[in-house]
Amino acid sequence: MKKQVQFLVLSSRTKLDFISAINNKQFEIAAAELKRLMDTRFGAGSREPDQTVSITFTIDCQAKGFSVKVLENALEFIAPTTLEILYAVYDMAEEYLGFCFFEPGVDALDTFGGTIKLPVGKYIIRNRVPALKLRGLVQEFPFSDEDYIIADWMVKNKLNLLQTWLKYYVNIPGEMLDYFEDRGIEITGGGHNFSFLIPAEKYAESHPEFFAERNGERIKPSASKSALLLSEQLCTTNPELREELVKNIIELSKLHPRLKSLGISPNDGFGWCECKECSKLYDKTKKGDLYNLSEHVHEANKIYHQLVKYVNRRLREENCTIDLGFGAYINYCRPSEGMTVDKGMRSGLANYWRCINHKINDPECPVNSNYAKDLQRWMKVKNGGLFGIYEYYMGVNFYISLPMVHTDDIFDEVEFYEKTGVDTLVTQFHVPHWHVYGINFYCMANALYRKSRNATQKRMWNALFGKDADAGKRFYRQVRKLIESAGKCHIPYPYSLFNRTDLADYKNLHEMAKKLHRQSPRDEYRRDLVVWTEYLVRFKTFFDDYHAGKAGVKEIRQFRQWALENCYGKRILRFASFNRYTQNIEQMISEGKKWLHFGLDWEDAYVVKHSQTILK
Ligand SMILES: [Zn+2]
Ligand SMILES: [Zn+2]
Repeated sequence: MKKQVQFLVLSSRTKLDFISAINNKQFEIAAAELKRLMDTRFGAGSREPDQTVSITFTIDCQAKGFSVKVLENALEFIAPTTLEILYAVYDMAEEYLGFCFFEPGVDALDTFGGTIKLPVGKYIIRNRVPALKLRGLVQEFPFSDEDYIIADWMVKNKLNLLQTWLKYYVNIPGEMLDYFEDRGIEITGGGHNFSFLIPAEKYAESHPEFFAERNGERIKPSASKSALLLSEQLCTTNPELREELVKNIIELSKLHPRLKSLGISPNDGFGWCECKECSKLYDKTKKGDLYNLSEHVHEANKIYHQLVKYVNRRLREENCTIDLGFGAYINYCRPSEGMTVDKGMRSGLANYWRCINHKINDPECPVNSNYAKDLQRWMKVKNGGLFGIYEYYMGVNFYISLPMVHTDDIFDEVEFYEKTGVDTLVTQFHVPHWHVYGINFYCMANALYRKSRNATQKRMWNALFGKDADAGKRFYRQVRKLIESAGKCHIPYPYSLFNRTDLADYKNLHEMAKKLHRQSPRDEYRRDLVVWTEYLVRFKTFFDDYHAGKAGVKEIRQFRQWALENCYGKRILRFASFNRYTQNIEQMISEGKKWLHFGLDWEDAYVVKHSQTILK
């Protein structure tokens, strides 16, 4: 006879009894969260409890990942670390209690009340381990109270790394550092930070020789606060400058003992020093490549890596234990000869202006395939250190909420990264545009813990669209189709998209969004999709009219005004980028300059070159 399966029934009458010693902050959070999520699911105190379920948190150092086992009137959470016990609570909440931790500050719940039956004697979650060791976000803005909900979202999605700029790190209040630490999230300080470590304010007058020489003269560095794409670097072969960097890093690490990793990355842009010593480290006969936007400059990997190796060696000699991070980006995105990623070193390849229509390892893509090759080169020189990927699952900052749907590709890409031996994956993000790119961030986090693509997406579409999940899915399929209609490759900047797509398709999306919204008028996500698609229609209309000679300063101002009135306070648009971008358009038009992108000559030249080659 078949043995009868017994069930553990959870309902509003269930009382949780924590029988492990709650002697640790992560256990404390895990217990409080489990109770809170159960109460939210079933309704707290709605009925007298008539059943007690014992909850055990078991630390087993030998366990492979985290598991949850159902016993008679008991649940056992088992993991090698206390943090993974907390992860197990959140996974159980998503997979069995009906939650979806899609966006910061919101616990979406698909069913309220009723009962849940779990099979006794079975594991409902078993041996769950991540695909990559370090998983996270890049915060390119100052810390504020919003970071509490970011940390909360991160731990619910099992992310454990927040990479930020050093200038922001040093101002994080102690209690916020605790909050992240309690949730197992490491914060590292990096960013384009030559200007932070060697500030112009302090050194420009006393040590002009610390700064790059260009066209026979030392540059006059601008105050670090306003630096953006200014192409201002240091004279990195200067021995005193190198020692000053080492000294400043050691001082910082003493001031901020919780900082475990600190990156040195050149200021954004190009413009490396051309002095006699520095010049020796360039191959003057060779310039960079199109895919990483360095055709117009020499490769700077050799000069940069020599500095990195020097600083790393000196930090160890001074018994400084902080990990040294460095970037792999534009004209220094390949390992130079003899470069190794040693123990105590960390780096990430930033695939700036990657193609978002192809997967990163698609050999057909002239851009991405080169980044994938670079990555494999780095894997070969890993020597005890960590190497990862720095992504842009929101286009880049100046893609300003134009569409990117990466919800399928991300699963394949993470698999590729895992196979390749990548340790880290982080992406840039902003909370104010979560209703545009949140689908990518949520899928990324799930892919990074080897969750199934189907289950992840099903949960996400259900959380976002409920009974209209199929219609919601169709909407996003249409968004992806629109992006693909641009051409085989698409680089995430406005010109690449708008120049090769039809206004009618944007209007169609807008109609689809309106229909979705009519089916559930009080839904904020759907409301935001309506406003977002109107934003796309308006932006595309401006683009077309501008190129037809029918729109100029007045129209771009009207568009900005419309966005301010309609997108503000919603999770659609990051205004800092949008305002800056549209003000630049306005200025270019006023000065009689052609609007291609952000108005930087070297960058505009790539937009033109792309349109004649890979984006033809
Ligand atoms: Zn120099
Ligand atoms: Zn491509």
